[in-house]
Amino acid sequence: MSKQLQIKIADTAGFCFGVKRAVKLANEAPAKYPGSKISTLGPIIHNPQVVNQLAEKGVKPVELDSAPESGVAIVRSHGITRKLALELEEKPTLTLVDATCPFVRRAQKIVAEMSSAGYQVIIIGEPEHPEVTGLISYGEPQNTRVVSSVKEIPADFFTSRKPSRIALLAQTTQSQQIYNEIAAALLTIKGELRCFNTICTATSNRQSEALQLAKECDCMIIIGGRNSANTNRLYELSREVLTNSYHIETVEELNPDWFAGKETVGISAGASTPQWLIDEVVRKLENNE
Ligand code: SF4
Repeated sequence: MSKQLQIKIADTAGFCFGVKRAVKLANEAPAKYPGSKISTLGPIIHNPQVVNQLAEKGVKPVELDSAPESGVAIVRSHGITRKLALELEEKPTLTLVDATCPFVRRAQKIVAEMSSAGYQVIIIGEPEHPEVTGLISYGEPQNTRVVSSVKEIPADFFTSRKPSRIALLAQTTQSQQIYNEIAAALLTIKGELRCFNTICTATSNRQSEALQLAKECDCMIIIGGRNSANTNRLYELSREVLTNSYHIETVEELNPDWFAGKETVGISAGASTPQWLIDEVVRKLENNE
């Protein structure tokens, strides 16, 4: 690797508040509930290294639809559906540790309140994402729907059969641009429109900083799980402005050829990437290994 390689690390790289909280609760669980079988409802975060470390401590993921009858079940930061939450609460021998991110919880409450008040609730998001399947479950099926673009707004909304009251919110990791486009389209409909900007700033700040770094550097390394949607998005954004952008999960994937003739390398990481994985990459680059 080049001796002059200057390393710039994004301040926003790595765990966000909600993920940090969920991983902390999972790490503390074995000491807090000794002798109990401890499960996370789905992988606690989209990072295989962290999931494996927890499994070694006895905290293992189970499928959402095979929640245990007893022991300890940890709800991850995405949250779960209202139906599953109620089912779990009714299991007398199960202890529930709720690590739903408070920002996701707020969005769930908005869906419940607006839907029961009779608004047509529009959630901007990816329909299959666990956070979104959780969000939609808090509304009534007849007035709560998910859209991912302006094109998916029901055509009825622009006719005389339009709803008189609409509430708009988003999956916490949605793009602000898509939110703005959909809000602008809904504003053309006469009637009441309530907009709740539930997009988490942890995501938008991370994306802006990565983009800025990509503009300033000769090469970008994005660290995070390949199954992490926010890491993949970070990588795509970086690659749009800098072709020499690389997505890695672990330090072993660094390729010295990427840095030949380069002077600066920027580093960012997804919200589910632990600090130790970032540190390993930085150490290797600093030591010019
Ligand atoms: S990205 Fe934001 S909403 Fe999602 S877990 Fe992190 S802090 Fe919570």
